[in-house]
Amino acid sequence: ETLEYGAELVVVATGSHWATDGLNGITCRPIPGADASQPWVLTPEQVMVEAKRPPGERVVVYDCDGYFMGASLAELLALEGYRVTLATPYAQVAPLCVETLEADPLLRRLHEIGVSIATGMTVTALEPGRTLGQDMFANPVTLEADAVVLVTQRVSDDTLYTELTAESPESLSTAGIEGVYRIGDCVSPRLLGESIYDGHRLAREIDSLDPSVPLAYLRERLLVTAAATSLAPWRERADRR
Ligand SMILES: Cc1cc2nc3c(=O)[nH]c(=O)nc-3n(C[C@H](O)[C@H](O)[C@H](O)COP(=O)(O)OP(=O)(O)OC[C@H]3O[C@@H](n4cnc5c(N)ncnc54)[C@H](O)[C@@H]3O)c2cc1C
Repeated sequence: ETLEYGAELVVVATGSHWATDGLNGITCRPIPGADASQPWVLTPEQVMVEAKRPPGERVVVYDCDGYFMGASLAELLALEGYRVTLATPYAQVAPLCVETLEADPLLRRLHEIGVSIATGMTVTALEPGRTLGQDMFANPVTLEADAVVLVTQRVSDDTLYTELTAESPESLSTAGIEGVYRIGDCVSPRLLGESIYDGHRLAREIDSLDPSVPLAYLRERLLVTAAATSLAPWRERADRR
């Protein structure tokens, strides 16, 4: 479809999705046994978009993200009547929320609605009915649970980009395509402002020699003289005295 569209420049901004296999930035690996095609393993999109729900009452939400997503899903499921444990490898729940001043109310809220907290826990394997892991001293920890929600990390949706860039130069040229670029989460999942910056930068530099490589910052160095500053009248007055 993209090849037939007739565009000379293609910018792919297909975003990202939450890992379905427990891939996370703590172990830098998927979690053995994690597979969101199973009814007892869920991702944030499955919970929120597809309304998938845990098959039993006890749920572990495993949060390696550290922002609001894990805590929010824990709150949602607890309010729906599930017995929720929020497990995280971090020393505190949602540490990024400290920076946004949300951490204290968030923790109070989780406590009020009965969410159990397991900080300092790295999940090492999932089995039906059990979440296996270790605490911060590498002692084994087991949580009995009917389901696990994986809030581990997001993964780029870069299939379209890799398919397009795998096309031969001749085939792209026949389609009239002069350049294929990608921006935002499709490059690597990030904050919204960084995605907006990506698109803005590419648009401004689209006529550069290689728009995929950002131009160096131009730093203007102004030469300031007394005559050009607000000091000039002050100096004149001072000289007259
Ligand atoms: C749950 C959640 C909460 C977030 N909260 C924050 C926050 O509070 N603050 C913050 O700064 N950042 C936040 N982010 C990150 C921010 O939303 C993303 O960095 C940003 O949306 C990425 O923009 P994007 O345009 O690259 O991708 P997206 O906004 O994900 O847009 C990609 C679009 O491409 C479409 N698409 C995918 N494949 C195809 C295809 N083959 N053909 C056509 N269309 C396709 C998708 O349907 C989607 O509409 C959050 C992200 C998530 C997932």
